[in-house]
Amino acid sequence: MSKIKIAELFYSIQGEGRYMGVPSVFLRTFGCNFKCAGFGMPRGQLSTEVDAIAQIADKFKVYEELPLVSTGCDSYASWDPRFKDLSPMLTSDAIADRICEIIPHGEWKDEHLVITGGEPLLGWQRAYPDLLDHPKMRGLKEITFETNGTQKLTSEFKLFLKQWAQNPPFASREITFSVSAKLPCSGEKWEEAILPEVVCEYEEVGTAYLKFVIATEQDFKDAECAIGAYRAAGFKGHVYLMPVGGVESVYALNNRTVADLAMKNGLRYSDRLQVPLFKNEWGT
Ligand code: SF4
Repeated sequence: MSKIKIAELFYSIQGEGRYMGVPSVFLRTFGCNFKCAGFGMPRGQLSTEVDAIAQIADKFKVYEELPLVSTGCDSYASWDPRFKDLSPMLTSDAIADRICEIIPHGEWKDEHLVITGGEPLLGWQRAYPDLLDHPKMRGLKEITFETNGTQKLTSEFKLFLKQWAQNPPFASREITFSVSAKLPCSGEKWEEAILPEVVCEYEEVGTAYLKFVIATEQDFKDAECAIGAYRAAGFKGHVYLMPVGGVESVYALNNRTVADLAMKNGLRYSDRLQVPLFKNEWGT
């Protein structure tokens, strides 16, 4: 039976993108190929907020005790090895059982599954079929992979997803790739973060859309440039702009500006409902 290292598994409302407002189970896998230490920092500088937390990592026994950060990656504990002990390896059985405990009716109804991270399309692609084929997952109709858009699908997983989408008892299941492509404000290198051919491949399997985190006019110019590259490669999906801000003070500073930018340019706006609703606490 497959095992997955799980940073968090919780039930909440999807706060971002296409399924904003939909009751959702979040399966946050451990591991990421990026650090995104540039978020919320002046251009060219990297956040050291997490380093300070890591120095006292022993103090924290559960996720809920970890401090939130206002710069860098707001889900740092889902990939930073200094916090790896907070993420257990769970079998597909254990994950499916836990999901049935946390959803309101003890079985899938209208809830949607979000597989997020970290970067959920790293090595765990080999483990998902076991979980998605589990008898307790039969009622699941919609799934989203929240990815940074840098990981190719393996041919085995691609084939599995195509079949899973059409398997009984549902004539069709909906597979979505929410691609949060990382612009230079993340601190990551363009040539490693903007990989249009990878994202175009997701469209062969399901619906894919791009979601850019925007803090400044320069970020928007970078997003325009990236959109051009994705379109040139044949990407057909929607594009969302989303305000930066894992904490309310930062989010509130630029949500309106980003909404205006989206409207002015005929793009979609994604909120971050988890910030005003739940203060972006762990488990939301
Ligand atoms: S890709 Fe996502 S999870 Fe990974 S470091 Fe960047 S923001 Fe964090």
